[in-house]
Amino acid sequence: MDFAIGDIEVAVIVGDDFSLPLRAFLPGLDLAAFERDRESISPEFVDLDRDRLRCAIQSFVLKLDRRTILVDACIGEDKDRPEVPAWSRRSRTGWLDRLRAAGVAPEAVDLVFCTHLHVDHVGWNTIDVGGAWRPTFPNARYLVGRRELSDWQARLAAGVAAPIHVRGLRDSVFPLVEAGRVDLVDEGLELAAGAALAFLPGHTAGQLGLRIDRPAGRALFCADVMHRPLQIANRPFRPRPAATHGLPRKHGSPFLRRRLRPGGWSSRRIFAAPDA
Ligand SMILES: [Zn+2]
Repeated sequence: MDFAIGDIEVAVIVGDDFSLPLRAFLPGLDLAAFERDRESISPEFVDLDRDRLRCAIQSFVLKLDRRTILVDACIGEDKDRPEVPAWSRRSRTGWLDRLRAAGVAPEAVDLVFCTHLHVDHVGWNTIDVGGAWRPTFPNARYLVGRRELSDWQARLAAGVAAPIHVRGLRDSVFPLVEAGRVDLVDEGLELAAGAALAFLPGHTAGQLGLRIDRPAGRALFCADVMHRPLQIANRPFRPRPAATHGLPRKHGSPFLRRRLRPGGWSSRRIFAAPDA
């Protein structure tokens, strides 16, 4: 499931691929508004006839100017996640095998870019080695948004962080900070010429994306600031309250207004089925 953005090779490493009841997951959808986009969103993203929304949790690997960059790290294995039993103490999920099958050994990853610190984006940051959480990618620097980490630390101090994400921070982020493997980063940092971090608030307080703007191609890796192309076809999008993490229900709309204006970013380019 690879694609290219000009001279940049991108491999999609799927962690989980599943479907959810469309109307229950996205209440308030105007299904009639999808009709004009039916061909472009079916069946890769949605099955309107069966009321199913296809979802995935996945990582991207970019070969960018001779560097190997992993964008997000799915759910991981052996992590204690009692809030979501299907994610808890998993084993033999095959994610590392799929990474290697894509030609990427963990030792070859130069950068791990964490778009945000939700538990389903940081899991493979670390693995259990003799009862301690060690970096899965031994030669990588881990890029974490300065604003994102600061916000989570404030939430922890105030006792208002969701327990599942607290677990993720403690086993998949803080061990890397303590080991000196994390670089705190901000909007505008260029990972390569024409590949810069972009501030994409709305899903979490400090989420960053990776904006590619090179002569041979443009794209935006936006993670959860927009989950589905359905959100383009169906605005204003109203996710379940639980999906907004306490943020206003205008979730995603500033991003859409900014990125999908005429001459802006291509809606098709930011998605690679089965998910964004
Ligand atoms: Zn998220």
